[in-house]
Amino acid sequence: MDILTHIISGVAASSVVAASTKSKIPAPRILAVGALGGAFPDIDAISLWSKFDSTIGKWFGLTHTGKEIYFGKFWYSHHGFFHSIAAAIMIGFLLGCLAYLYHWLQWQRQRDPFTRFFKTNSTLYLIFVLGCLAHVAGDLITPASVWGGVRLFCPHAGYAGGQGSVWWWNNYDIFLIIATGTLLNILLIVVAKHIRFRTGVISFLVALLILAGVWRQAAARQTDYAYTGHTGQYQQLEQKSRKEQQRILGPKLYRIMERFDNWLIINF
Ligand SMILES: [Zn+2]
Repeated sequence: MDILTHIISGVAASSVVAASTKSKIPAPRILAVGALGGAFPDIDAISLWSKFDSTIGKWFGLTHTGKEIYFGKFWYSHHGFFHSIAAAIMIGFLLGCLAYLYHWLQWQRQRDPFTRFFKTNSTLYLIFVLGCLAHVAGDLITPASVWGGVRLFCPHAGYAGGQGSVWWWNNYDIFLIIATGTLLNILLIVVAKHIRFRTGVISFLVALLILAGVWRQAAARQTDYAYTGHTGQYQQLEQKSRKEQQRILGPKLYRIMERFDNWLIINF
């Protein structure tokens, strides 16, 4: 799925936590960590970077080209380890250690012990993990392609998902559902500062509505996007996914989303 939908999924997950938590961590920081978690698993797409072979590939003495790695089944290939539950937990912990190192260098006299620092920031850790998992959930419903899904339970060698309910891009309807729900939750957090009411339950209900909406839209696609390996039908499927969006959104909203898509430099 596209990176923007992944990021907004991470923000959506974090908005529920931001509305429910009693932690003193500011909401914008919680939402930013959610966005980071939502984007993070696609770090494995770095092997497609044009300078990958002459930099990272050379430094690590890799015998395969970046393109071979990206479309391969190495643990560091796309949809490999970085798209797993284990990676979300481990990388989250690693980032937590780096944040502590920063805290340690910054506050020479008032340093917190490592355990207390982790306890106070456990909400951010949880949100990073949730953001990563929201990303992986989005990828589970894309085509299997050369990987056969995502390596969700790494180090287990099996790949999960890959049923191709949705196309890689052009899932404007799904993006709009997640973005609307997220905005609603953010609005709740802002309003709750002025009027006292339980935002946690409402934000959780909004999250359930988002999930139900995404589920419904993915299940109601009229095209079967499933394929394994490389498909010769790539362009046709891409066109079909655009036509499908036109049908779902109607010509007016579709045109707005298409303009937004053309304006972006990334695949959306
Ligand atoms: Zn991904």
